[in-house]
Amino acid sequence: MITLEEARGFVLPAFSALAPRQVAIGAALGCVLAEEVMANEPIPPFANSAMDGYALRAEDTAAAPSRLAVVGSVMAGEHSGVAVGTGEAVRIMTGAPLPPGADAVCMIERTRTQDDATVVVEVAVDAGANVRYPGEDIASGETVFGAGTSLSPGHVGVLAALGMETVLVHPRPLVGVLSTGDELVEGGAALPPGKIRDSNRHALLAQVRQSNFEAVDLGIVRDDAHELAKAFERGAARCDALVTTGGVSVGDLDMVKVVLDKLSGGSMRWMQVAVKPGKPLAFGTLAASGTPVLGLPGNPVSALVSFELFARPALRRMAGQRRLGRPVLAGVAEVDLRRPSDGKLHLVRAIATADASGTVLVRPSGRQKSHMLRAMAEANCLALLPDGEGVAAGGHVALWLLDADRLAPESEGCDAPDGVS
Ligand code: AMP
Ligand code: MG
Repeated sequence: MITLEEARGFVLPAFSALAPRQVAIGAALGCVLAEEVMANEPIPPFANSAMDGYALRAEDTAAAPSRLAVVGSVMAGEHSGVAVGTGEAVRIMTGAPLPPGADAVCMIERTRTQDDATVVVEVAVDAGANVRYPGEDIASGETVFGAGTSLSPGHVGVLAALGMETVLVHPRPLVGVLSTGDELVEGGAALPPGKIRDSNRHALLAQVRQSNFEAVDLGIVRDDAHELAKAFERGAARCDALVTTGGVSVGDLDMVKVVLDKLSGGSMRWMQVAVKPGKPLAFGTLAASGTPVLGLPGNPVSALVSFELFARPALRRMAGQRRLGRPVLAGVAEVDLRRPSDGKLHLVRAIATADASGTVLVRPSGRQKSHMLRAMAEANCLALLPDGEGVAAGGHVALWLLDADRLAPESEGCDAPDGVS
Protein backbone atom coordinates (compact mmCIF):
# COMPACT_ATOMS: atom_id res chain seq x y z
CA MET A 1 0.00 0.00 0.00
CA ILE A 2 1.08 3.57 -0.67
CA THR A 3 -0.10 6.66 1.15
CA LEU A 4 -2.70 9.06 -0.20
CA GLU A 5 0.05 11.69 -0.64
CA GLU A 6 2.24 9.28 -2.62
CA ALA A 7 -0.64 8.32 -4.90
CA ARG A 8 -1.56 11.95 -5.47
CA GLY A 9 2.11 12.74 -6.04
CA PHE A 10 2.04 10.25 -8.88
CA VAL A 11 -1.29 11.34 -10.40
CA LEU A 12 -1.39 15.14 -10.09
CA PRO A 13 1.81 16.12 -11.95
CA ALA A 14 0.48 14.38 -15.07
CA PHE A 15 -2.27 17.00 -15.34
CA SER A 16 -1.52 20.55 -16.45
CA ALA A 17 -3.66 23.57 -17.25
CA LEU A 18 -5.34 23.39 -20.67
CA ALA A 19 -4.28 25.92 -23.31
CA PRO A 20 -6.12 29.23 -22.82
CA ARG A 21 -9.10 30.13 -24.95
CA GLN A 22 -11.32 33.20 -25.34
CA VAL A 23 -14.78 32.51 -23.97
CA ALA A 24 -17.87 34.69 -23.67
CA ILE A 25 -18.15 36.14 -20.16
CA GLY A 26 -21.53 34.42 -19.87
CA ALA A 27 -19.76 31.06 -20.12
CA ALA A 28 -16.78 31.90 -17.93
CA LEU A 29 -18.21 31.30 -14.44
CA GLY A 30 -15.91 29.01 -12.46
CA CYS A 31 -13.17 29.18 -15.10
CA VAL A 32 -9.67 30.42 -14.31
CA LEU A 33 -8.23 33.56 -15.89
CA ALA A 34 -5.25 32.95 -18.14
CA GLU A 35 -4.52 36.69 -18.44
CA GLU A 36 -4.38 39.76 -16.27
CA VAL A 37 -7.52 41.82 -16.59
CA MET A 38 -6.76 45.53 -17.01
CA ALA A 39 -9.38 48.24 -16.74
CA ASN A 40 -9.60 50.26 -19.95
CA GLU A 41 -12.16 52.56 -18.40
CA PRO A 42 -13.01 53.71 -14.89
CA ILE A 43 -15.81 52.29 -12.75
CA PRO A 44 -17.94 54.26 -12.03
CA PRO A 45 -17.50 55.87 -15.45
CA PHE A 46 -18.62 59.37 -14.33
CA ALA A 47 -19.49 61.25 -11.12
CA ASN A 48 -23.05 60.32 -10.17
CA SER A 49 -25.47 60.42 -7.30
CA ALA A 50 -25.68 57.66 -4.67
CA MET A 51 -29.12 58.90 -3.56
CA ASP A 52 -32.39 60.33 -4.77
CA GLY A 53 -32.25 63.98 -3.70
CA TYR A 54 -30.85 67.34 -4.73
CA ALA A 55 -27.47 68.09 -6.27
CA LEU A 56 -26.14 71.29 -4.79
CA ARG A 57 -23.08 73.24 -3.69
CA ALA A 58 -22.12 72.16 -0.17
CA GLU A 59 -21.12 75.70 0.87
CA ASP A 60 -24.71 76.87 0.23
CA THR A 61 -25.98 74.56 3.01
CA ALA A 62 -23.55 75.62 5.79
CA ALA A 63 -26.19 77.68 7.63
CA ALA A 64 -28.93 75.04 7.62
CA PRO A 65 -31.79 75.14 6.92
CA SER A 66 -31.21 76.74 3.53
CA ARG A 67 -33.57 77.59 0.74
CA LEU A 68 -32.36 76.79 -2.80
CA ALA A 69 -33.84 77.45 -6.21
CA VAL A 70 -34.57 74.23 -8.14
CA VAL A 71 -33.26 74.83 -11.67
CA GLY A 72 -33.83 71.41 -13.23
CA SER A 73 -33.85 67.67 -12.76
CA VAL A 74 -31.75 64.77 -13.98
CA MET A 75 -32.73 61.09 -14.08
CA ALA A 76 -30.50 58.02 -14.33
CA GLY A 77 -29.52 57.57 -17.97
CA GLU A 78 -29.96 61.27 -18.80
CA HIS A 79 -27.25 63.76 -19.37
CA SER A 80 -28.68 67.12 -18.43
CA GLY A 81 -26.66 70.17 -19.28
CA VAL A 82 -28.20 72.16 -16.43
CA ALA A 83 -25.49 73.54 -14.16
CA VAL A 84 -25.88 74.29 -10.45
CA GLY A 85 -24.99 77.88 -9.55
CA THR A 86 -24.78 79.56 -6.16
CA GLY A 87 -28.06 79.20 -4.27
CA GLU A 88 -29.33 76.59 -6.72
CA ALA A 89 -30.13 72.87 -6.72
CA VAL A 90 -31.02 70.21 -9.33
CA ARG A 91 -33.35 67.35 -8.48
CA ILE A 92 -31.36 64.15 -9.05
CA MET A 93 -32.04 60.40 -9.04
CA THR A 94 -29.65 57.62 -7.98
CA GLY A 95 -27.15 56.93 -10.74
CA ALA A 96 -27.78 60.21 -12.58
CA PRO A 97 -24.70 62.26 -13.54
CA LEU A 98 -23.76 64.98 -11.08
CA PRO A 99 -24.53 68.31 -12.80
CA PRO A 100 -21.67 70.74 -13.41
CA GLY A 101 -21.20 73.13 -10.50
CA ALA A 102 -22.61 70.71 -7.89
CA ASP A 103 -20.24 69.05 -5.40
CA ALA A 104 -22.68 67.15 -3.17
CA VAL A 105 -26.11 65.56 -3.02
CA CYS A 106 -28.58 65.95 -0.17
CA MET A 107 -30.84 62.92 0.22
CA ILE A 108 -34.51 63.65 -0.38
CA GLU A 109 -35.43 62.67 3.21
CA ARG A 110 -33.46 65.72 4.50
CA THR A 111 -35.33 68.20 2.29
CA ARG A 112 -38.75 69.83 2.07
CA THR A 113 -40.27 71.24 -1.10
CA GLN A 114 -42.40 74.37 -0.82
CA ASP A 115 -43.25 74.71 -4.49
CA ASP A 116 -41.81 73.28 -7.73
CA ALA A 117 -39.21 76.01 -7.84
CA THR A 118 -37.85 75.87 -4.27
CA VAL A 119 -36.37 73.27 -1.94
CA VAL A 120 -35.48 73.67 1.73
CA VAL A 121 -32.39 71.70 2.70
CA GLU A 122 -32.68 70.97 6.43
CA VAL A 123 -29.09 69.98 7.16
CA ALA A 124 -25.56 71.13 6.32
CA VAL A 125 -24.19 68.85 3.60
CA ASP A 126 -20.48 68.04 3.36
CA ALA A 127 -18.71 68.48 0.03
CA GLY A 128 -18.63 65.09 -1.69
CA ALA A 129 -21.61 63.75 0.26
CA ASN A 130 -23.53 61.08 -1.70
CA VAL A 131 -21.34 61.50 -4.75
CA ARG A 132 -19.85 58.44 -6.45
CA TYR A 133 -16.62 59.52 -8.11
CA PRO A 134 -15.34 58.11 -11.39
CA GLY A 135 -12.82 55.32 -10.89
CA GLU A 136 -13.37 55.10 -7.13
CA ASP A 137 -14.12 51.37 -7.46
CA ILE A 138 -11.71 50.61 -10.31
CA ALA A 139 -9.38 53.17 -11.88
CA SER A 140 -8.67 53.16 -15.62
CA GLY A 141 -5.36 51.46 -16.35
CA GLU A 142 -5.45 49.46 -13.13
CA THR A 143 -4.80 45.70 -13.05
CA VAL A 144 -8.07 44.40 -11.70
CA PHE A 145 -7.61 40.61 -11.53
CA GLY A 146 -4.49 38.50 -11.87
CA ALA A 147 -4.04 35.41 -14.00
CA GLY A 148 -5.11 32.40 -11.93
CA THR A 149 -8.26 34.04 -10.59
CA SER A 150 -11.19 31.63 -10.46
CA LEU A 151 -14.19 33.58 -11.72
CA SER A 152 -17.13 34.09 -9.36
CA PRO A 153 -20.39 35.85 -10.28
CA GLY A 154 -18.85 39.04 -8.87
CA HIS A 155 -15.88 38.73 -11.23
CA VAL A 156 -18.26 38.22 -14.16
CA GLY A 157 -20.05 41.40 -13.09
CA VAL A 158 -16.80 43.39 -13.11
CA LEU A 159 -15.87 42.05 -16.56
CA ALA A 160 -19.28 43.15 -17.84
CA ALA A 161 -18.91 46.55 -16.15
CA LEU A 162 -15.60 47.00 -17.97
CA GLY A 163 -17.25 46.26 -21.29
CA MET A 164 -15.44 42.96 -21.82
CA GLU A 165 -17.43 40.54 -23.96
CA THR A 166 -14.94 37.68 -23.85
CA VAL A 167 -12.10 36.74 -21.55
CA LEU A 168 -9.06 34.47 -21.85
CA VAL A 169 -9.46 31.46 -19.55
CA HIS A 170 -8.33 27.88 -19.20
CA PRO A 171 -11.28 25.96 -20.63
CA ARG A 172 -13.24 23.40 -18.66
CA PRO A 173 -11.67 19.98 -19.19
CA LEU A 174 -13.78 17.61 -21.25
CA VAL A 175 -13.98 14.50 -19.10
CA GLY A 176 -15.10 11.21 -20.61
CA VAL A 177 -16.68 8.74 -18.21
CA LEU A 178 -17.17 5.06 -18.98
CA SER A 179 -18.24 2.04 -16.97
CA THR A 180 -16.79 -1.38 -17.49
CA GLY A 181 -18.27 -4.71 -16.51
CA ASP A 182 -20.37 -7.50 -18.01
CA GLU A 183 -22.82 -7.23 -15.10
CA LEU A 184 -23.91 -3.67 -15.95
CA VAL A 185 -27.17 -2.67 -17.60
CA GLU A 186 -28.67 0.71 -18.44
CA GLY A 187 -32.22 1.95 -17.94
CA GLY A 188 -35.31 0.91 -16.01
CA ALA A 189 -36.26 -2.43 -17.56
CA ALA A 190 -36.54 -5.48 -15.26
CA LEU A 191 -33.06 -6.66 -14.26
CA PRO A 192 -31.92 -9.88 -15.92
CA PRO A 193 -30.52 -12.44 -13.43
CA GLY A 194 -27.05 -11.55 -12.17
CA LYS A 195 -27.09 -8.05 -13.67
CA ILE A 196 -27.00 -4.72 -11.82
CA ARG A 197 -27.77 -1.22 -12.96
CA ASP A 198 -24.86 1.04 -13.83
CA SER A 199 -24.93 3.72 -11.15
CA ASN A 200 -21.27 4.74 -11.18
CA ARG A 201 -21.28 6.32 -14.60
CA HIS A 202 -24.23 8.55 -13.81
CA ALA A 203 -22.87 9.52 -10.41
CA LEU A 204 -19.41 10.25 -11.83
CA LEU A 205 -20.85 12.29 -14.70
CA ALA A 206 -22.73 14.26 -12.05
CA GLN A 207 -19.53 14.79 -10.05
CA VAL A 208 -17.83 16.01 -13.23
CA ARG A 209 -20.60 18.51 -13.88
CA GLN A 210 -20.78 19.63 -10.27
CA SER A 211 -17.06 20.35 -10.39
CA ASN A 212 -17.62 22.69 -13.37
CA PHE A 213 -15.98 20.34 -15.88
CA GLU A 214 -17.63 19.21 -19.14
CA ALA A 215 -18.98 15.66 -18.87
CA VAL A 216 -18.87 13.30 -21.85
CA ASP A 217 -20.85 10.09 -21.46
CA LEU A 218 -18.91 7.22 -23.03
CA GLY A 219 -21.40 4.56 -21.97
CA ILE A 220 -21.04 1.03 -20.64
CA VAL A 221 -18.28 -1.09 -22.14
CA ARG A 222 -18.21 -4.88 -21.91
CA ASP A 223 -15.18 -6.72 -20.55
CA ASP A 224 -13.99 -7.30 -24.07
CA ALA A 225 -10.52 -6.29 -25.24
CA HIS A 226 -11.61 -5.01 -28.63
CA GLU A 227 -14.60 -3.03 -27.31
CA LEU A 228 -12.56 -1.56 -24.48
CA ALA A 229 -9.72 -0.49 -26.77
CA LYS A 230 -12.20 1.13 -29.15
CA ALA A 231 -13.93 2.95 -26.30
CA PHE A 232 -10.67 4.34 -24.87
CA GLU A 233 -9.45 5.44 -28.29
CA ARG A 234 -12.76 7.06 -29.18
CA GLY A 235 -12.87 8.75 -25.77
CA ALA A 236 -9.30 10.02 -26.11
CA ALA A 237 -10.12 11.58 -29.47
CA ARG A 238 -12.87 13.70 -27.90
CA CYS A 239 -11.79 14.27 -24.32
CA ASP A 240 -9.00 15.87 -22.29
CA ALA A 241 -9.11 13.09 -19.69
CA LEU A 242 -10.85 9.76 -19.17
CA VAL A 243 -12.36 8.31 -16.03
CA THR A 244 -13.30 4.65 -15.95
CA THR A 245 -14.73 2.48 -13.19
CA GLY A 246 -14.46 -1.21 -12.54
CA GLY A 247 -11.78 -3.79 -13.17
CA VAL A 248 -8.94 -2.16 -11.25
CA SER A 249 -8.88 -4.36 -8.11
CA VAL A 250 -6.09 -6.81 -7.36
CA GLY A 251 -8.19 -9.90 -7.87
CA ASP A 252 -9.72 -8.72 -11.11
CA LEU A 253 -9.00 -10.65 -14.25
CA ASP A 254 -10.80 -7.96 -16.22
CA MET A 255 -9.72 -6.99 -19.68
CA VAL A 256 -9.53 -3.37 -18.48
CA LYS A 257 -6.04 -4.09 -17.16
CA VAL A 258 -4.85 -5.86 -20.24
CA VAL A 259 -6.18 -3.14 -22.53
CA LEU A 260 -4.97 -0.17 -20.50
CA ASP A 261 -1.52 -1.71 -20.03
CA LYS A 262 -1.28 -2.06 -23.79
CA LEU A 263 -2.72 1.36 -24.74
CA SER A 264 -0.59 3.15 -22.14
CA GLY A 265 2.58 1.51 -23.39
CA GLY A 266 3.05 0.03 -19.92
CA SER A 267 2.84 3.42 -18.14
CA MET A 268 -0.31 2.41 -16.26
CA ARG A 269 0.29 2.07 -12.55
CA TRP A 270 -2.03 -0.18 -10.57
CA MET A 271 -2.01 1.15 -7.02
CA GLN A 272 -3.20 0.13 -3.58
CA VAL A 273 -3.77 3.35 -1.65
CA ALA A 274 -3.98 3.34 2.15
CA VAL A 275 -7.49 4.78 2.25
CA LYS A 276 -10.89 3.28 2.93
CA PRO A 277 -12.91 3.36 0.78
CA GLY A 278 -11.02 3.72 -2.50
CA LYS A 279 -8.00 1.45 -2.07
CA PRO A 280 -7.52 0.29 -5.69
CA LEU A 281 -6.60 2.99 -8.19
CA ALA A 282 -5.09 2.91 -11.65
CA PHE A 283 -3.46 5.79 -13.42
CA GLY A 284 -1.54 6.27 -16.64
CA THR A 285 -1.60 8.11 -19.94
CA LEU A 286 -2.51 6.68 -23.32
CA ALA A 287 0.62 6.40 -25.46
CA ALA A 288 -0.96 7.59 -28.73
CA SER A 289 -2.73 10.71 -27.46
CA GLY A 290 -1.17 11.50 -24.07
CA THR A 291 -4.66 11.45 -22.60
CA PRO A 292 -4.61 10.75 -18.86
CA VAL A 293 -6.80 7.86 -17.70
CA LEU A 294 -7.93 7.37 -14.13
CA GLY A 295 -9.19 3.90 -13.32
CA LEU A 296 -11.48 4.10 -10.31
CA PRO A 297 -12.79 1.14 -8.32
CA GLY A 298 -16.13 -0.42 -9.24
CA ASN A 299 -17.70 -0.33 -5.81
CA PRO A 300 -20.06 2.63 -5.97
CA VAL A 301 -18.90 4.46 -2.83
CA SER A 302 -15.25 3.76 -3.64
CA ALA A 303 -15.71 5.17 -7.13
CA LEU A 304 -17.19 8.43 -5.88
CA VAL A 305 -14.68 8.83 -3.04
CA SER A 306 -11.79 8.08 -5.43
CA PHE A 307 -13.13 10.75 -7.75
CA GLU A 308 -12.95 13.18 -4.81
CA LEU A 309 -9.47 12.10 -3.79
CA PHE A 310 -7.80 11.91 -7.20
CA ALA A 311 -9.92 12.86 -10.21
CA ARG A 312 -11.31 16.14 -8.93
CA PRO A 313 -7.98 17.63 -7.83
CA ALA A 314 -6.26 16.41 -11.00
CA LEU A 315 -8.96 17.83 -13.26
CA ARG A 316 -8.90 21.09 -11.32
CA ARG A 317 -5.25 21.36 -12.29
CA MET A 318 -6.34 20.97 -15.92
CA ALA A 319 -8.87 23.73 -15.34
CA GLY A 320 -6.01 25.94 -14.12
CA GLN A 321 -7.28 26.04 -10.54
CA ARG A 322 -4.79 26.74 -7.79
CA ARG A 323 -6.94 25.36 -5.01
CA LEU A 324 -7.13 21.66 -5.73
CA GLY A 325 -8.59 20.12 -2.61
CA ARG A 326 -11.72 20.58 -0.58
CA PRO A 327 -11.55 22.86 2.44
CA VAL A 328 -10.71 21.13 5.72
CA LEU A 329 -12.97 22.04 8.62
CA ALA A 330 -12.49 21.21 12.29
CA GLY A 331 -15.55 19.41 13.60
CA VAL A 332 -16.75 17.87 16.84
CA ALA A 333 -17.92 14.23 16.80
CA GLU A 334 -21.61 14.06 17.73
CA VAL A 335 -21.32 10.31 18.37
CA ASP A 336 -18.44 7.85 18.79
CA LEU A 337 -16.57 7.51 15.48
CA ARG A 338 -14.76 4.23 16.13
CA ARG A 339 -12.66 2.30 13.65
CA PRO A 340 -10.22 -0.60 13.73
CA SER A 341 -6.54 0.07 13.13
CA ASP A 342 -5.63 -1.20 9.62
CA GLY A 343 -2.95 1.14 8.29
CA LYS A 344 -5.45 3.20 6.29
CA LEU A 345 -7.00 6.63 6.46
CA HIS A 346 -10.75 6.13 6.85
CA LEU A 347 -13.07 8.55 5.08
CA VAL A 348 -16.40 8.40 6.86
CA ARG A 349 -19.39 9.53 4.85
CA ALA A 350 -20.83 12.04 7.27
CA ILE A 351 -23.20 14.90 7.87
CA ALA A 352 -21.64 18.06 9.22
CA THR A 353 -23.99 20.66 10.66
CA ALA A 354 -22.94 24.16 11.69
CA ASP A 355 -24.93 25.36 14.69
CA ALA A 356 -25.76 29.04 15.24
CA SER A 357 -22.44 29.61 17.02
CA GLY A 358 -20.50 28.16 14.08
CA THR A 359 -19.55 24.88 15.80
CA VAL A 360 -19.50 22.05 13.27
CA LEU A 361 -21.01 18.80 14.57
CA VAL A 362 -20.26 15.58 12.68
CA ARG A 363 -22.12 12.27 12.55
CA PRO A 364 -22.05 9.37 10.07
CA SER A 365 -24.62 9.76 7.28
CA GLY A 366 -25.49 6.06 7.27
CA ARG A 367 -23.98 2.60 6.92
CA GLN A 368 -20.41 2.68 5.71
CA LYS A 369 -19.81 -0.33 3.48
CA SER A 370 -18.34 0.48 0.07
CA HIS A 371 -21.39 -0.77 -1.84
CA MET A 372 -23.79 1.30 0.29
CA LEU A 373 -24.36 4.37 -1.81
CA ARG A 374 -27.14 5.74 0.35
CA ALA A 375 -24.79 7.15 2.99
CA MET A 376 -22.77 8.81 0.21
CA ALA A 377 -25.97 10.43 -1.04
CA GLU A 378 -26.79 11.80 2.41
CA ALA A 379 -23.24 12.96 3.20
CA ASN A 380 -22.09 16.56 2.90
CA CYS A 381 -18.55 15.77 4.03
CA LEU A 382 -15.95 13.09 4.50
CA ALA A 383 -14.81 12.83 8.12
CA LEU A 384 -11.11 11.96 8.31
CA LEU A 385 -10.18 9.21 10.73
CA PRO A 386 -6.41 8.60 10.61
CA ASP A 387 -5.18 5.10 11.41
CA GLY A 388 -5.94 4.26 15.05
CA GLU A 389 -8.99 3.77 17.21
CA GLY A 390 -11.09 6.66 15.95
CA VAL A 391 -12.66 9.45 17.97
CA ALA A 392 -15.04 9.41 20.93
CA ALA A 393 -18.18 11.58 20.99
CA GLY A 394 -17.13 15.15 21.80
CA GLY A 395 -13.68 14.65 20.29
CA HIS A 396 -12.24 16.67 17.44
CA VAL A 397 -12.46 15.37 13.91
CA ALA A 398 -11.19 16.98 10.72
CA LEU A 399 -13.40 16.79 7.67
CA TRP A 400 -13.40 17.58 3.97
CA LEU A 401 -16.43 19.66 3.17
CA LEU A 402 -18.13 18.46 -0.03
CA ASP A 403 -21.24 20.62 0.02
CA ALA A 404 -21.18 23.94 1.86
CA ASP A 405 -24.89 24.54 1.21
CA ARG A 406 -25.79 21.46 3.20
CA LEU A 407 -23.74 22.64 6.17
CA ALA A 408 -26.57 25.00 7.06
CA PRO A 409 -29.35 23.55 9.22
CA GLU A 410 -32.69 23.08 7.45
CA SER A 411 -35.10 25.88 8.27
CA GLU A 412 -37.95 27.90 6.81
CA GLY A 413 -35.91 31.08 6.64
CA CYS A 414 -32.26 32.06 6.64
CA ASP A 415 -30.99 32.20 10.20
CA ALA A 416 -28.42 34.82 11.09
CA PRO A 417 -25.70 33.76 13.52
CA ASP A 418 -26.21 34.36 17.24
CA GLY A 419 -25.92 38.02 18.16
CA VAL A 420 -26.37 39.21 14.57
CA SER A 421 -29.39 41.17 13.22
P1 AMP B 1 -14.88 -4.27 -9.87
O1 AMP B 1 -14.06 -3.10 -9.42
O2 AMP B 1 -15.10 -4.29 -11.34
O3 AMP B 1 -14.33 -5.55 -9.34
O4 AMP B 1 -16.31 -4.10 -9.23
C1 AMP B 1 -16.49 -4.08 -7.82
C2 AMP B 1 -17.93 -4.04 -7.48
O5 AMP B 1 -18.52 -2.86 -7.99
C3 AMP B 1 -18.76 -5.17 -8.06
O6 AMP B 1 -19.76 -5.54 -7.12
C4 AMP B 1 -19.36 -4.56 -9.30
O7 AMP B 1 -20.54 -5.21 -9.70
C5 AMP B 1 -19.64 -3.16 -8.83
N1 AMP B 1 -19.65 -2.23 -9.95
C6 AMP B 1 -18.72 -2.14 -10.91
N2 AMP B 1 -19.03 -1.19 -11.80
C7 AMP B 1 -20.20 -0.66 -11.39
C8 AMP B 1 -21.05 0.37 -11.89
N3 AMP B 1 -20.72 1.04 -12.99
N4 AMP B 1 -22.17 0.68 -11.21
C9 AMP B 1 -22.49 0.00 -10.09
N5 AMP B 1 -21.74 -0.97 -9.57
C10 AMP B 1 -20.61 -1.32 -10.21
MG1 MG C 1 -15.67 -5.65 -12.82
